[in-house]
Amino acid sequence: MRRLIEAAEIQQRVTELGRQITADYRGRPLTVIGVLTGSLVLVSDLIRTIELPVRVGMIRASSYAGRTTTGNAVSIDLNLLPDVRARDVLIVDDVFDSGRTLTALVERLQTCDAASVRTAVLLWKERPRETEWTPDYFGFRIPDVFVVGYGLDYNDEHRSLPYVAALDPVEL
Ligand code: 5GP
Ligand code: MG
Repeated sequence: MRRLIEAAEIQQRVTELGRQITADYRGRPLTVIGVLTGSLVLVSDLIRTIELPVRVGMIRASSYAGRTTTGNAVSIDLNLLPDVRARDVLIVDDVFDSGRTLTALVERLQTCDAASVRTAVLLWKERPRETEWTPDYFGFRIPDVFVVGYGLDYNDEHRSLPYVAALDPVEL
């Protein structure tokens, strides 16, 4: 395992994001929607740096690889979603990889009559996107490697690490 981002760097960057979000929404109440399970740690740190009235909800999304490379679908479970009508919504995920998950979530949330829908991720991978969307807020650009820690798991392990590390292909 190779450490990419230390815990202190993450805390500093998350605090900056919280300040930026606080300034951008100018006192308007915000609904933070975390994408389970990888965003748990970021959501809990981020909401404590946002100085706005914040409501928190969770959502589950899983992408299923189809038979063709273009046929991948994202299944979305809205059971834990609070009422977002007329609310400013910030969807928070761990990592923006191909972008498929966040694109599907933004499109779905936009059908729920939210006042606005934006996205925040801890990590944004440097690889070709499969969508026009980019995250509105991001913590760090990282190379196209598989990472764990700070919420991100590999086979349910390493989620609770306070830093982000890359797993070598031989470890996968
Ligand atoms: P996308 O739809 O952007 O391709 O993928 C986003 C989702 O894939 C993330 O929410 C996360 O669950 C998973 N994912 C993508 N890259 C990584 C990674 O490097 N490590 C882990 N643990 N999950 C990842
Ligand atoms: Mg995820």
